[in-house]
Amino acid sequence: MGEEIVQEIGTRLSKPAAAATSRATLEDIISAVQKYNPEADLDCIRKAYVFCSNVHKGQKRVSGDPFLIHPLQVAMILSEMRMDTVSIAAGFLHDTVEDTLVSVDEIRSVFGEEIATLVDAITKLSKINFSSREKREAENYRKMFLAMAKDIRVIIVKLADRLHNMRTLQYLPEHKQIKVAQETLNIYAPIAGRLGMQEMKIELENLAFATTKPDVWERIERQVEQLKKHSSKFMDKINDIVKRKLVEFGIKADVSCRVKHQYSIYKKMEEQKVEFDQIHDLIAFRVIVDSVKECYECLGIIHSIWKPVHGRFKDFISMPKTNNYQSLHTTVIIEGGHRIEFQIRTRAMHAMAEWGVASHWKYKTGKEVEPKDEIKFRWLRQFMELQKELSDPAEYLDTVRIDLFASEVYVFTPQGQLRELPRGSSPVDFAYAIHTDVGNQCVGARVNGKIVPLRYILRNGDTIEILTSPNHKPSKDWLKFVQTSKARSKIRQYVRIEQRQRSHDLGQDLLEKEFDKYGEKFGHYVKSGAFDQYFHKVGMKDMDQMLALIGYGRLNVTSIVEALIPAEKRKKQLPHHESAISKIFKRAKEKSKGVVRVAGLDDIMVSFGKCCNPIPGDRIMGFITRGRGITVHTLDCPRMLTTDPVRRVEVQWDKMATSMRPARIRVVAVDKTGILSEISQAIASMGINISQANCRSVEDNKAINTFDVLISDISHLFELIKNLEKIRNVISVERVKG
Ligand code: MN
Repeated sequence: MGEEIVQEIGTRLSKPAAAATSRATLEDIISAVQKYNPEADLDCIRKAYVFCSNVHKGQKRVSGDPFLIHPLQVAMILSEMRMDTVSIAAGFLHDTVEDTLVSVDEIRSVFGEEIATLVDAITKLSKINFSSREKREAENYRKMFLAMAKDIRVIIVKLADRLHNMRTLQYLPEHKQIKVAQETLNIYAPIAGRLGMQEMKIELENLAFATTKPDVWERIERQVEQLKKHSSKFMDKINDIVKRKLVEFGIKADVSCRVKHQYSIYKKMEEQKVEFDQIHDLIAFRVIVDSVKECYECLGIIHSIWKPVHGRFKDFISMPKTNNYQSLHTTVIIEGGHRIEFQIRTRAMHAMAEWGVASHWKYKTGKEVEPKDEIKFRWLRQFMELQKELSDPAEYLDTVRIDLFASEVYVFTPQGQLRELPRGSSPVDFAYAIHTDVGNQCVGARVNGKIVPLRYILRNGDTIEILTSPNHKPSKDWLKFVQTSKARSKIRQYVRIEQRQRSHDLGQDLLEKEFDKYGEKFGHYVKSGAFDQYFHKVGMKDMDQMLALIGYGRLNVTSIVEALIPAEKRKKQLPHHESAISKIFKRAKEKSKGVVRVAGLDDIMVSFGKCCNPIPGDRIMGFITRGRGITVHTLDCPRMLTTDPVRRVEVQWDKMATSMRPARIRVVAVDKTGILSEISQAIASMGINISQANCRSVEDNKAINTFDVLISDISHLFELIKNLEKIRNVISVERVKG
């Protein structure tokens, strides 16, 4: 038993190039295929072998070996992956069109459409030079992904081809070795990982790593050897303990142990800036059982033997990774304080983990049939759709790289197209990902058919529908939750333009109003050139800059008026003292120009006092807040009365605006069953949305209910209050400000 483990670790630790020495024959392949697929069309495989050995006759590899060895090995790898006959035949034939005089038509006439299409696609992939400049590179990624979308076997054969080439890399000149290895690390290994082909990924990475960084490879290799020597005894012991305990509970399991592979050790050391012996999960035990139920039972048993490390338990069975990986992971502390990771899964999950999408074929002929393979690969195909739509190669490359390595969330458009966004993205990010206009006009979102707030966090598999309104504009509040740089920059851009425009207009209003006070005409001063002198004197650029500064509340109009209107005029026509309030009344009656119009919604330069929460119809007044535009309060708001009169500004509700404002009402009622639903029904029957409700019972058998509702204006609110008062058992209804 113990020997098994050491042996397995032994193979893990062997130098990657050692694998190159193995040579398969046609008979090896035939017998391998027969084992997992007794009904396989062996004649087709034989025919492909004969065909390929004929057309490659006389050709040699760089190593000096007959070329035939290469397609044979590729076919062997494919049979080890338990691929279907078509893939194995394509493995034999994959280089015939490129390297011999054979045409795709010929392949088609001999082997039929399916194999010919595969060979054709593989040939096209082979012509791609990934290491050329970025523009070409992106183009190639695209082709590659598209090929994969049509038939995933193209990629699998291509990966097998690459694996054998990597195993025999040492025969190439050194500069070519590095280039191929780099390409393997950048493209092939991540793709294998994406497809869930863990075995393939690990071997490709290790082979490439040993080539690109031979000295680092060697050092880690030595440390791994040492670790193996030092830990083999206690790993045997753990293995014994686990097996014995599982037998006690009647669970049949395969237990094995492996050391983290060299390249992932290297990556971990680089990423976390740690030394070899600071990595905790170097050694992992894998327990493979028969059912999901046993997975959890096994987890419980392991936790009963050793103490689990907090925060290290991961349930990928109920939450599979995007590449469909399923397993339970836990780390425990054993004697001596060592940490050991356990991975627990079923045989089917194990096959998926090792072979990824390739495991799909395994079950086609076996007794286990995967339901709806289509769904499993849907994300993949839809991922391809995304690639088609990106036009900029640089952006494309970025997406691919990020996507292959970073955490992301996959969501669907109502048409079922896949979109990939960074984790934590909101419907607003999604809207901007669709189109800038969709983002700018986004008013709401429906996720899986339900309305959600715009700050909802998207989850894998969500279907998102964006609700738009042509007159809607982005809100600066969105900046608080958007994740994508596109959304952020588009919103910022909009906010900046809007802010500049609004503060410019506001500044002009305020300044004109100030000139009006002294019976002077602003326009007259502009024409006379008085402002140009003033700008020069105070070092300001121009009118736009000054007005914007006023609007932002950074510049006081009085100082400007003092500088421009001669003192005698100011004295002569000093406005008689009016109380702020009576002035407002007067202004509100005559439709004077110095009045700022506000709509119900917070816009860029206007916000509403939380203390009094004005709604359209309330008498209001504005106050210029430095750098933040105008805050609107109700006239009777105590906060307003304490503000600096100089910075007050008259505001008026924009009657044309149709936006809603939040309002709060308090309903005191007799505490009776059904009363609450009666109240909320009355509110709903007026088409009013309740955004929040709070109910509590108080003494005397009373209940106090507060509702936050969205209201269009004050008369709307009065009507609501009147309707609620009509309800039997309702004692009082009142509006709550603030
Ligand atoms: Mn090849």
